[in-house]
Parts: sequence; structure tokens; C-alpha cells
Amino acid sequence: MSYRKTLAGAAVCAGIGLHSGERVRMVMKPAAPGTGIRFVRTDLSGDNQISAHISNVTTVRLGTTIANAAGAQVATVEHLMSALAGLGVDDAVIEIDGPETPAMDGSAAPFVELIEKAGLKETAAPLRVIRVLKPVSIEMQGRTATFLPSLKPAIDVEISFPHPTVGRQRYAFDISERIFSEDVAAARTFGFRKDVEAMHAAGLALGGSLDNAVVIDDSGIANPEGLRFADEFARHKALDALGDLALAGAPIFGRYFAHQPGHALNVASVRALMADKSAWKMVSYADADSLPEAVSAEG
Ligand SMILES: [Zn+2]
Repeated sequence: MSYRKTLAGAAVCAGIGLHSGERVRMVMKPAAPGTGIRFVRTDLSGDNQISAHISNVTTVRLGTTIANAAGAQVATVEHLMSALAGLGVDDAVIEIDGPETPAMDGSAAPFVELIEKAGLKETAAPLRVIRVLKPVSIEMQGRTATFLPSLKPAIDVEISFPHPTVGRQRYAFDISERIFSEDVAAARTFGFRKDVEAMHAAGLALGGSLDNAVVIDDSGIANPEGLRFADEFARHKALDALGDLALAGAPIFGRYFAHQPGHALNVASVRALMADKSAWKMVSYADADSLPEAVSAEG
């Protein structure tokens, strides 16, 4: 994986947005090296292109929303971004005819299936990655996150909810296509029944249902099919984190450890890392698998 990859062909899907409840059609297409992941709102005229980049993040409440200077936006990009990052897609154009990605089944598995069906194409452009050189930590209302130098890009999350069905869970994985598609992609988003009314009142989760989310109520899991993994909640938080980290615009070669992560924490962590120019550098993928000098020197 030392060269940039794009899709070998187009992939099409349709569905409703988790929060908007609006039906959208989405087409993933190959793109030239250096494009990154770029959304195109085909239902809007004028400047309808939005780069999936941390500088374009506008909202992090129960989902990550990106927008361009003209105000064209796409909400809830994290599961699609996670699928693209997890499978190593560096460049793609995502055409979408509405304001939010389709929720599909609440996980990244349907996107993985679509991408795998379209196939990947390696280009001749060398892949460059963000190598973490020293720890960068942030703290936000009792939640914490740290980027650490690491030979392999990895995500490590810990969650704790005062509900016996969730409780305390930790899930960590080294980012690879195989591990992502087998162990992470299928973990669904989740929510608590008691929060649904307040979310609806705020215009959120209008498209949410047992078809696209795990719902937890007083008696446990409301979904008749139950959980896909015993620790599905932590795996989904890891999936979300990968999608948010992908907004850095290049793979982050470091270990992201987060306690009680949400989109606000993930996005703030990427911003904190990017802001500290001494904490990372862009290197070619070929050079990324050796420890940074700063770490070797400190033993
Ligand atoms: Zn999610």
C-alpha cells in the first residue's frame, strides 16, 4: 500500500439519513491522485464541492458534518469516511443528492461491500502519511484522547456508560483492510430510548429506527436480532474515530487512544495534532514503518 488508491469503478447506493430522515442517492466514483475524499452535492448549483477535511467540519453533535464556504454541507460523514479509510481509499468523489449520507444499517459494512464490489485501483502516485512524532493529548469535559507515536496506525477506545447493557468496554485495533472489514465495519451506531424524544425535538435521529441503530432501553437491547458483537458499542466508537481521524486528509501513523470519545473529541484531537507542527510530519508510506527519530532518541 505504498501508492495512492482510488476506486476501480463506481458504486451506487440509496437510503435515508439517520438525522434528517431524507432519502438520498449516493454514487462513489474514482478520482485523480491528490483529490482526497471530495463530496459533490448534485442537488445544489454553484459551489457544491466539499472536501472531507478537518478544516471543513462545522458540526460534531451526534455526527460529523462538513461544509464548504458557500454553505453546501453533508452531514454524518463518519461511517462512510471510516469505510474509505479502513479499506485504504485515498481518492474518491462522492456524489450525493441530499444533505446527509444514507444511514444504511447504521454501520460501515454496506459501504465496505459496495467499495469491495467496485474494486480498488492503485495509482502511480506515492502515498504520504502523517507520522506522529510525539504524544499530543487533549481533555474535554472529562473525556480524554492522546495521539502516540507508533509503528502501526491503531485506534484504541474505552467507553463507560451508566447502563448495565453497555457498562465499560474497550476495543483496540491495528488499522488494516482485513481487520477493519472483519471486526469493525459491521458495528452499528447505538442510542438510548430515553434520549429519543429529546433528539427528535432537536430535529435529530428523525431517520433512526431499529433498522439502522441499536436501541437500548430499560430492559436491554430493543432490537430483536440482538448484538453483532458482545462489545459492539466500543467497536462502533472505534469505527467512528477512524472516520473522524480520516478528516486529517492523510492516514495518521500513530496510535489514537481515547476515553469516552465522541465526534467532538475526535475532531478536536485531530485539530490539536495538526496545530502542533513539532508533533508530526508528512512522510512517504515507505518511510512510515520505522520509529520516529525523536522516539528512538528517547529510548
Ligand atoms: Zn457512528
